[in-house]
Amino acid sequence: MASPRFRDTGRFVRRTAPAKVLKPRTLNDLMRCFDPANRVPTPIRVRGSGSASTDCNDVVTGTIVETTGLDRILGIDNYYHTVTVQAGVRLGALVSELARQGLELDGNLDQMERTVGGAVASPCMGPGIGSRSTYLSSQAISMKLVTPAGKLMKVTQQQKHLLNTVRLSYGMLGAIYEVTLRVRPIATFSAKHRSMDIDTFANVVDRLASRDVGMKFCLLPHKDRVYLDLRRYEDSPGNAWDTPWKIKDWGESTVLPNVFRSLNRVMPIPSVKYRLMDGISAATHGLVNTRLVRNGNNVTASGRRRRHKARNVLDSAWCFPATDFSLVIKAFRDFCEQTLEGAGYRSDLPIIGHRVARDTSAVLSPSFDEPLVALQVSSTVDKGWEDFVIDLAQFAENWGGTPLFNQSRAMRAEYGKQIYANRLAFFRKIREQLDPQKRLLNPFLAQCFE
Ligand SMILES: Cc1cc2nc3c(=O)[nH]c(=O)nc-3n(C[C@H](O)[C@H](O)[C@H](O)COP(=O)(O)OP(=O)(O)OC[C@H]3O[C@@H](n4cnc5c(N)ncnc54)[C@H](O)[C@@H]3O)c2cc1C
Repeated sequence: MASPRFRDTGRFVRRTAPAKVLKPRTLNDLMRCFDPANRVPTPIRVRGSGSASTDCNDVVTGTIVETTGLDRILGIDNYYHTVTVQAGVRLGALVSELARQGLELDGNLDQMERTVGGAVASPCMGPGIGSRSTYLSSQAISMKLVTPAGKLMKVTQQQKHLLNTVRLSYGMLGAIYEVTLRVRPIATFSAKHRSMDIDTFANVVDRLASRDVGMKFCLLPHKDRVYLDLRRYEDSPGNAWDTPWKIKDWGESTVLPNVFRSLNRVMPIPSVKYRLMDGISAATHGLVNTRLVRNGNNVTASGRRRRHKARNVLDSAWCFPATDFSLVIKAFRDFCEQTLEGAGYRSDLPIIGHRVARDTSAVLSPSFDEPLVALQVSSTVDKGWEDFVIDLAQFAENWGGTPLFNQSRAMRAEYGKQIYANRLAFFRKIREQLDPQKRLLNPFLAQCFE
């Protein structure tokens, strides 16, 4: 019999309607949600914009505390380059406000509908340039959170170990209410694009992944194509125009999913349909990225589209050791081909990858021990997806993949424990001290963190 998975499979339909959703608008409201005297049904799960791909932000019975009403930017310090915000502020709103003052977040992040709380409590990562630009949580220098006992707790840089534990804590230590982030003056980077086959990419990827460049790539495994995007800070990179990045964001996050959804409805012959889709992806990529997007900064590259809902796209992501990635990428191409042949499933959207620098700023940092490369598979096709993510999880296990508790669908709990090992044991001890009654543990997280 197959071993149990850390996420529902195609045989079990995920229930999304929770017993109760609370939407606090003030600190007092938030504290009331957690105060044991109020007997709020447990488990309690904190939710930001709800964009995570796993059940880390969900409960079937219990309570969801949704933070999007806590949406005030409390202060920007242009001298010390910090910003203090409530946890429900959307990344897009924050990026826009910072840009007005000539500042930006460190790290090439997109998905601007996410909340700061969600993005600090779970890995929110992009192809950051340099070694400290991978996760937004690394930039969090102090936080206030409401503990499972309903008390306010402040954590600062002076409490290094506690701060490192609260970063990427997936809402298991309490609800983050307020965050102070390090920010910086807007800096322009150059973006260079290359198109190549997968074998050529495999020959260069190890070297690139060990450098401090921002490396992102778009992979079309069935077309044997990689579109590589390398970002570097240059002495005189030129102007970072906003419009090309807006077109890119619109093309990639709106046009492609919508066109592919329509094609999935009207085109009955899979081989023709997929050829068409890969052609459209390649053309979009060639036109938008290679021709239009040359220079950018973390404001223009974020797209800043003010979606207030997570994209209606299926998604599962895993990270792989950068040192082995030249082998992993070829094996992944074979895996995609075999899955299409055997199970008849493939993702229709391009697969996105990026370098994840080594980062020890959080106890549960996926890249605590070594640099990684993230592979993010997205699709608009429901039928067959749940079985596909199980196969993908098996592939990832075979190749030493590191799971993300917010993004790696169908991960086996035993495998997660093995990968995060001692750090998970340390996190568990802190969690047990702050939440001895397990009020914040849903069944999904309990499999690893109990
Ligand atoms: C199509 C798609 C693409 C994606 N692309 C990327 C990507 O490129 N890069 C990337 O990093 N991620 C990506 N993700 C994953 C997702 O965007 C991240 O998990 C995101 O950081 C979550 O932010 P959120 O506000 O939506 O939080 P939620 O999904 O609501 O919550 C995520 C976790 O944080 C906890 N949490 C939320 N708010 C708080 C709070 N105030 N206090 C304590 N805990 C809290 C929740 O309990 C949960 O465990 C993608 C997801 C999808 C579906």
